[in-house]
Amino acid sequence: MPGFELFSDEERKQVNDVLKTGVLFRYGFEGARNGHFKALEFEKKLAQITGAGFSHLCSSGTAALCTALAACGIGAGDEVIVPPFTFVATFEAVIQAGAIPVFVDIDQTLCLDPDRLEAAVTPRTKAVVPVHMCGAMARIDEIKAFCDKKGLVLLEDACQSLGARFRGSHLGTFGKAGCFSFDSVKTVTCGEGGGIITNDQNIYTRCAQYADHGHDHLGGPDRGADDHPIMGTNYRLSELNAAVGLGQLGKLDRIIEIQTKNKAAIKDAMKKIDGVTFRALPDPDGDSATFLSFFMPTQGQAEQAAKKLAENGAPCAYWYNNNWHYYKEWHHLKGMKRAARLPFELSSDLPDYAGLVLEQSDDIMKRTLSMQIMLSWTADDMDERIQAVLNALG
Ligand SMILES: *Cc1c(COP(=O)(O)O)cnc(C)c1O
Repeated sequence: MPGFELFSDEERKQVNDVLKTGVLFRYGFEGARNGHFKALEFEKKLAQITGAGFSHLCSSGTAALCTALAACGIGAGDEVIVPPFTFVATFEAVIQAGAIPVFVDIDQTLCLDPDRLEAAVTPRTKAVVPVHMCGAMARIDEIKAFCDKKGLVLLEDACQSLGARFRGSHLGTFGKAGCFSFDSVKTVTCGEGGGIITNDQNIYTRCAQYADHGHDHLGGPDRGADDHPIMGTNYRLSELNAAVGLGQLGKLDRIIEIQTKNKAAIKDAMKKIDGVTFRALPDPDGDSATFLSFFMPTQGQAEQAAKKLAENGAPCAYWYNNNWHYYKEWHHLKGMKRAARLPFELSSDLPDYAGLVLEQSDDIMKRTLSMQIMLSWTADDMDERIQAVLNALG
């Protein structure tokens, strides 16, 4: 998964272009920048790779989600459907928008279950934010069909799934907008950074405005001449971070190729192990292969397997009691512990987050383990890992 494993001269060269000019900023300083527009170049390349019409970079994946929600008009009192297995940023971005996260179960894809959406829709539902977890896809065609039928905004959190596809189309291109993260552990890293892709020019324009204090960017080289058609904030990406990302983006095909090869070898070996089954992949060919996720028959067996895998030198994530990625341990959500009160906290119909129980998700996550697929594994590392897995689970 992590692009940081392949940090090399390509990234250094891109960063040096910026350092030589001293123009560390994406906007302005036209005379001094010696023709370098790393953020702009990154955006063009990201749109080109994903086949999206437009792309805008932000300072993080979280900022990208906040920006995309704002650009889609999601705000105070709107309900937004999200899954309980994701990184906390997904629901935090919804709360940041003044909207209300509504949690809906995941299925065997480890992503939002389209069959559970109908029951969660109310007159206030405005958007659905599926999260393509661990490098692969939700049942995005069915989720899209549901959103289209109900007139809901579809916004994809593809932060963990750059380069993954569903039937040939890149994840992030199915709804109004898609978001990526380029943080320290993602497929491509900028250090910190995020990106939005969209096919809707108006959404793109609003994203570019919102992430830069509402600037219309029509004032030419003089930023002081820009007008402010909307209110925004500062989620700009620095030119230095963009330069790193540009170097990394050129390696995306290679990253996915290595991951796919490594994952296939381990998965093949594991197919022989009694009781082990694998995450459902609606389109196996579109998997970016950052993780190998599998199910044990029972919670007890999964806990035991996690222990044995770690002892044998092949540690896997057991998400069920993980603080970052599963709703059970999100104490700030459960207690609605925020620095400042939100308007909707004054109303009585806030969901009971403290009492939230998602049985279908729990049943799946109790039995789920995920192995992160690394790029740096040698042939010997691979043999050792496969042996470790067989020793632990066989
Ligand atoms: C990493 C991540 C984010 C947030 O990205 P940052 O760049 O860390 O802000 C959002 N959603 C998911 C699913 C993520 O994994």
